Amino acid sequence: MTIYKAPLADQRFTLFDLLGAEAILTQLQGGAEHGRDLLDAVLEEAGKLAEQVLAPTNWPGDQEGCHYDKATHTVTTPKGFKEAFKAFAEGGWAGLTAREAFGGQALPGVLGIATTELFQSGNLSWSLYPLLSEGACHAMELHGTEAQQHTYLKPIVEGRWTGTMCLTEPQAGSDLGLLKTRAEPNADGSYAISGTKIFISAGEHDLAENIVHLVLARLPDAPAGSRGISMFIVPKFKVNADGSLGARNSAYAGAIEHKMGIKGSATCVMNFDGAEGFLIGQPHKGLAAMFTMMNAARLSVGVQGLALAERAYQNSLNYARERLQGRALSGAKFPDKPADNLLVQPDVRRMLLTQRAFVESSRALLYYTALQTDIEARGADEATRKAAGELVAFLIPIAKGVVTELAQECTKEALQVYGGHGFIGENGMEQFVRDARIITLYEGTTGIQAADLLGRKILQLQGVGFRRFAGEIGAFCKAHAGDAKLAAFIAPLGAAVKQWGELTLALAQRVQASPEELGAAATDYLWYSGYVTLAYFLARSVAAAEAGAQGDAFKQAKRDTATFYFARILPRTLVHKAAIEAGVATLPDIA
Ligand SMILES: Cc1cc2nc3c(=O)[nH]c(=O)nc-3n(C[C@H](O)[C@H](O)[C@H](O)COP(=O)(O)OP(=O)(O)OC[C@H]3O[C@@H](n4cnc5c(N)ncnc54)[C@H](O)[C@@H]3O)c2cc1C
Repeated sequence: MTIYKAPLADQRFTLFDLLGAEAILTQLQGGAEHGRDLLDAVLEEAGKLAEQVLAPTNWPGDQEGCHYDKATHTVTTPKGFKEAFKAFAEGGWAGLTAREAFGGQALPGVLGIATTELFQSGNLSWSLYPLLSEGACHAMELHGTEAQQHTYLKPIVEGRWTGTMCLTEPQAGSDLGLLKTRAEPNADGSYAISGTKIFISAGEHDLAENIVHLVLARLPDAPAGSRGISMFIVPKFKVNADGSLGARNSAYAGAIEHKMGIKGSATCVMNFDGAEGFLIGQPHKGLAAMFTMMNAARLSVGVQGLALAERAYQNSLNYARERLQGRALSGAKFPDKPADNLLVQPDVRRMLLTQRAFVESSRALLYYTALQTDIEARGADEATRKAAGELVAFLIPIAKGVVTELAQECTKEALQVYGGHGFIGENGMEQFVRDARIITLYEGTTGIQAADLLGRKILQLQGVGFRRFAGEIGAFCKAHAGDAKLAAFIAPLGAAVKQWGELTLALAQRVQASPEELGAAATDYLWYSGYVTLAYFLARSVAAAEAGAQGDAFKQAKRDTATFYFARILPRTLVHKAAIEAGVATLPDIA
C-alpha cells in the first residue's frame, strides 16, 4: 500500500557528518571497535529487516488487529507478526545494546535509536513488543539482583521472552501516586500481587514463550502517595530453577482495548490475582526505579514520531511527483503531459518542506540526545559524564514532547498532499495519522513533558541543562559568525537563543511569585524551546553538509530545508512567547 525505503543516507549524514559520532563513540570506554564500518553495516541490515519484513505487515496488521480469546485469555497478533519477531530475535536485534554479560552485543545506544527508527517506520504496532521489552530489560539491568538478571533478563535479550511495564490503573494515570495494586509477602520471600492494570502494551501475545511483567504495587506498610510504591517481577509462566517454564502464574489479560490506532499492538487489561511476584530494587522505591529508565523510554517514543513522519513524508513526496493535476501558476512545466505534477504547486511544496524540515531536524535532535546518553554512561571521566547527563535530562522532554506533537502535523500534511485519496484506507495515509495520535499520550502526555521541562529541568534543577545547551548554541553561532554560507541562519539563531534565555529568566521569576504561572506557560514554553532547538540542528546540518563530502544537490537540499524553516517555522516562537507572557490570568477558573 505504502512505500518505505530506509533513509540510510540521511541517517549516516546525521550520525557521522553532523554529530561526529564515530570520533565520539570510539573514544568512549569499551568503544574502540564502534567505528563507522561497523555502525554502517548494522544500519544497513536493520534497514533490510524494516523494508522487507516489517513494512509489508503494517497496513494488513492494522486491518486485522489483535484477537482476544476470552475462554483462554490469549491474544493472537496479526498475520506476519510472529515471523517478523522470529527474524528479529534470530538476527540478535533484541540484545543489540544490552550488556555482553547478559548475551547482548553492547553496541552504542545511538545505534539502538537509529535502528529503532527503522523498525518503527516499518511497523509501529509491531515495534512496541520489543520496545516494552527493552524498558523491562533496562529496569532489570539497573535494579535486579544477579539471579533475577540471569533468570528473567537473559531470555529477553536472547529474544525468547518479552517484557511489559505495568504502571497504569483506571484511577492512576499521570498521577501514579494513586495506584492501588497490592503486594502481600509470602512465607517463601515472594509476594502475592493483586490488582488491575489497564492499557498494558504487549501484556499478552503469541510472539514469545513467556512474558515478564514489571508491576508497580504497594506493600502492606507502604506510605500513601508516590513514595509508597515498589516494583515487582511477575512472570506469565513461573520459572523453574533450571530456567525452564513452570506453572501458569495468576496474571491474565482480561481484555484488549479497541483503539483508534496501533491496532496490531495488544493493549491489555491485566488482572493480577495473587500472582507470584518478586521485589526488584528497594521497597517503596519502585517509582524512582522506573524513573531511572524513563529517559530511554521517552526518547524511544520521540523516535516513534520521527519514524511515522519519515514514512508518511516518503509517501507524500512520491505521490506529489506522480499525481498530475492542474498547471503551474507561471505556465505548464510538463506541456507534453495532460497536466503538471503536484510538485509545481508552491502550496504542496510548503506541505512537503514542513515535513522534511521536521523529519531531518528531529532526527538530529534525537540522535544527539542518544549520543549524550552514551557519553553519560561511558564517558572518559566524571565531569564529561555529568555534563552529558545534564544535557540528556534537559532535552528528553523536548525530544519526546515536541517531536511527537510535530508527528501529528507531519502525518496530517502528508495525508493532505494526497487530497481525498489520503482519506481512503487502502492508500495507507490515514493509518499514519491514527497511529501517530497515541504517541503524545503514553509515556507521559505532552502536558506532563511540558511540566517536566519547566518545573523540574528549568526551575528545580536551576536550568543547568538549559545553560549548557544554550551555551553550545552560542558557541556554534560564534564559531560560524563570519561564515557567508551560514549568514542567513546564524543571526536569527543567535537572536532566538538570546530571547529564549530572557524568556526563561522572566518566567522563572513569575513562577516564584505565583506557582500557577508554571502550568499556564509550560506547554508554550515547551514549543518555544522545541522550535529553537530544531533551528539549531538545521543550522548545524547546513554547516556539516558544507564541510562534508556530499554532492551539491545534497548540500542545496540542506540549505533549502533550513531556509524554509527559518523563514516560515521559526517565527512560530513569537506566538508562543505571546502566550507565555499572557500568563495565567487569561486562563480563568471554569465553574
Ligand atoms: C495505547 C496505549 C498504550 C499504553 N501502554 C502502557 C503501558 O504499556 N504501560 C502502562 O503502564 N501504561 C500504558 N499506557 C497508559 C498511558 O501511559 C497513560 O494513558 C498516560 O500516562 C496518561 O494517563 P491517563 O490516560 O490516565 O490521563 P490523565 O492522567 O487522566 O490525563 C488527562 C489529561 O490531563 C492532563 N494532566 C494530568 N495531570 C496533569 C498535570 N499534573 N499537569 C498538566 N497536565 C496534566 C494530561 O496531560 C492529559 O491531557 C498506555 C496507554 C495507551 C492509550
